[in-house]
Parts: sequence; C-alpha cells; structure tokens
Amino acid sequence: MREVEFDLLSVRPLKTLILWRGFPYVFQALTLIAFLLLAYIGFGVFPTEGINAKLFAKSNLVTLVIWGLWWPAMIWTAVLAGRAWCMICPLEFVSNLSERLARRLGIEQRSLGQWLRSGALMVLLYFAIQMLVSGVGLHRVPAYTSFFLIGLLASAIVVGFVFKDRAFCRAFCPVGLLLNAYGRGGMLAVRPGSSAACSSCADKGCLIASNRNKVDGRSCPSLLNPSRLNSNKDCLVCGQCIKSCAPDNMQLVLRQPFPEKDAREPLASWPLTLFIMLASGFVTSELTAESSIAQAAFVWIPEHIADILRLSHYLGWLEGIWALVLFPAVLWLLLGGMIALFRRTSIGDAWRRLALPIAVIVSAAHMSKALAKFTSWAGFFPHALTDPLGTKTAMDIASHAVPSPEPLVNIHVASGIAFGLLLVGTLLALREVRLANPTYLRVHAAPKFALAGLFVIIIMAWG
Ligand code: SF4
Ligand code: SF4
Ligand code: SF4
Repeated sequence: MREVEFDLLSVRPLKTLILWRGFPYVFQALTLIAFLLLAYIGFGVFPTEGINAKLFAKSNLVTLVIWGLWWPAMIWTAVLAGRAWCMICPLEFVSNLSERLARRLGIEQRSLGQWLRSGALMVLLYFAIQMLVSGVGLHRVPAYTSFFLIGLLASAIVVGFVFKDRAFCRAFCPVGLLLNAYGRGGMLAVRPGSSAACSSCADKGCLIASNRNKVDGRSCPSLLNPSRLNSNKDCLVCGQCIKSCAPDNMQLVLRQPFPEKDAREPLASWPLTLFIMLASGFVTSELTAESSIAQAAFVWIPEHIADILRLSHYLGWLEGIWALVLFPAVLWLLLGGMIALFRRTSIGDAWRRLALPIAVIVSAAHMSKALAKFTSWAGFFPHALTDPLGTKTAMDIASHAVPSPEPLVNIHVASGIAFGLLLVGTLLALREVRLANPTYLRVHAAPKFALAGLFVIIIMAWG
C-alpha cells in the first residue's frame, strides 16, 4: 500500500522560513529568553507554609509552565511530530554558541567516547531527574525548578565548550532518549528526496566536513548522513541539511504515523532498553497519581517498607526507587519472561526485542497522563500571569475566596481519550513487532496486552 506523505517544502512560505538564515536560531533565542525569565522568577522561591504543595505548584508561573504545560506538550509533540521540539530548543542553541566560542579560542575539543555515544549517561540523567521529582519535589518547588533550568543551561554550555559535534544533544541531554524512543513514528521528518540525485551529487554539502562549522547551511551537525536518513531517532529537524543541499533534494515531510519504509531495530541498544523499562515504571506511577485508589495501591509497598525500616522521612526517595527500579524490574521479569519461556531465549534478549514496540504503548500512556495534567493545570495560567509567584492565588483558592479553575477536559472524557490512545498504541506496537521481528509476533502479543491491560485498569480508576 502506498504510504501517504507530503513535502512541506513545496509550500513556498514554509520553504522560505526554513531557508532563512535566522532559522532556527531566532526561535531558539526566544525559547532561551523564556527559560531565563522563568529561571529568574523562580529563583529562591519556596512554597508558602501551610499551603498544599500541589496547589502551589499549579499557581506558580514557573512550576506551572515547566511541569504542567511544557513537559506534557513535549510528550505529545514527540509522539506526533518526532523531535520537533529540538528544532527550537535553547539548550542546543547555547551549546552551539559555546562550541563555537571554544573553537575560536583555539581550545582542542574532544569527540564523544563510545560509552557516552551509547546514551548510557542520558539514562542516568533521566533517572536522576525523576528521583529528584520523587525525593525533593523538584516539580513542586519553583526554586528547585529554577536551579534545574540553570543547571541544564550551564551543563549545555560546559559540554559545548569541551566536546565537539553537538555533543550535548548526542550524549548529555536528559530527555534525549525519551525523544529518540517516542519520536520514531512522528509525522514530521527530514528525508532525502531522490536517491539518484544523491548518487550523482558531487558536492555532498550535507556531509562534507568543511561545511560543519559554518553558521548556516551546515553539513549535519549531529554527524548523521542526511542522504540516507531513514529514521527520526537522532534527527533534530534543525534544517541545516536542507540548506546545505545544493541540488535541493532534501525534504521536510508530513507523513502518516509509523510509515513502513522507516528503518526498524529488532534489538534495541541496552541504554535504550533500560530507559524504556524505567519509563514504564515512571509512567505507571504517573497514571496512578490521577486516582487516590490507584495511587494508594501503587505506593502500598514502599509505604510499608518505610514503616518497617522507620524511614518515613525518606518516603519520597523510596517511592522513587520503587517506581523507577523495583516495579519495572518485576514488571519486565514478567513481560520478558513470557517471551524467554516460549522462545527459549535469554531474558536480556527478550527485553531488547520488546523494548521499542513496548515504547509505543508506554508513550500512549504517557500522552494520556500528559493530557490529564495539561488540561487540569492550564486553567491556572491566567492567574499565574497576574500573580507569577502564585502565593496569593494559592491562598485565595485554599480559603475558597476564589474557585479553583475547572479542568479544560472533564476527567471522564480524559479517561475515554486515554483508553483510545492505548488501543491505538497497542495495535501500533503489534504492527511494529511485525515489521521489526516478524517471527516473534505471536509471543509478543501477550506482553503487549498485559501492559496495555495494566494501564487500562489504572485509567478506569480515574473516573
Ligand atoms: S536533544 Fe535535548 S538538548 Fe538537544 S535539542 Fe533535543 S531536547 Fe534540546
Ligand atoms: S547534498 Fe543533497 S543531493 Fe547531495 S548527497 Fe546530500 S542530500 Fe543528497
Ligand atoms: S539530518 Fe538534517 S535536520 Fe536532521 S539533524 Fe542532521 S542536519 Fe539537522
């Protein structure tokens, strides 16, 4: 069956925008200003004593925008449009600037070693952020969120200074693997047009090293080969290869989700596999947070461990270890065990074969949580614009002087949409198995249905 796709560069104003010298830098500079403003507003701000921490987080502009609006929007954007966020990301911008500065100063910059290129550090950084969310309430405290933004910008600058070739994005970005895993089936993609044009291209502007350090029209700064691009996993949609292609053969394609002609990996790398295992636990925990019954059931074990070991003071950290390590370990022993048993393969092999198709279901569940969060937090935005610190808003709502903003979408509707997302995600996950690992299709169905079933049960508790 012919796959549906449309080259957005055939729309003249869009092509003019992408080829403009200021693209994507002007947009990145704007998001950088927004990041800096939020870091400034949140600097040194802690929740007011006596006010519910979650209510305060919704009322404060910094925690509201970063954790309630931007983060959920990034999840949806990644799944629907690949790494489109990367196009305007301020971290790539500052890292690019510091990489250029270091080069100007004659500093000898290093290439990434194999361990860093594998993505192992990105798993650890994502884990560290989620542990801070659980342990100290990173997402509820504006001062910590401000520190988080400053830390991200500072580390992007330092990495750009020390390493070359967009190293921050390739090895240090805490959401790099999330975007890599969730964005593969996205509907926006940079792809070469005719392969004949690439074969006869003498210039190879998208590849040659002499173009790499230019400001505009660079050969791929991520060291990809744009003329053979067949996956969204590493492409940041920066448009540089489109500008550097003299024969005008690169396309910015709007296409159907998960097209068959994209490359698939039957075995995911270990760092990616571990990331998806970790994400499955984190997303389960996030889904349960929308229902007091489901949440009580999910944290029952860490709460009892805290009681027995008299570690109630560290309950948040224990809940983090439970959600990110112990629960996923048990879950994946069951999921991988089903495959290892029937195919007589090692559990590690089963996990690596399961990882990418399972990522489709996890991303659908993550979208569900993101929808519930975005729609219930968005109503606070007008209040946060007039009272950025949020103290007055939170106190007024807590004392019932003003009503709490209604969610944009009723929780029953959100749970209905979530159910639909999981159904589509499960079907797409099975299709991914057929395309990547056809001989495993039958044994893969059971773990997919088991995970999707778990998520559906939790979502049914929302209403
Ligand atoms: S990989 Fe990370 S740092 Fe790089 S552009 Fe994407 S989100 Fe930004
Ligand atoms: S510059 Fe364009 S035509 Fe030449 S190899 Fe690269 S993508 Fe192909
Ligand atoms: S392939 Fe093109 S759009 Fe993708 S990262 Fe490389 S230069 Fe940017």
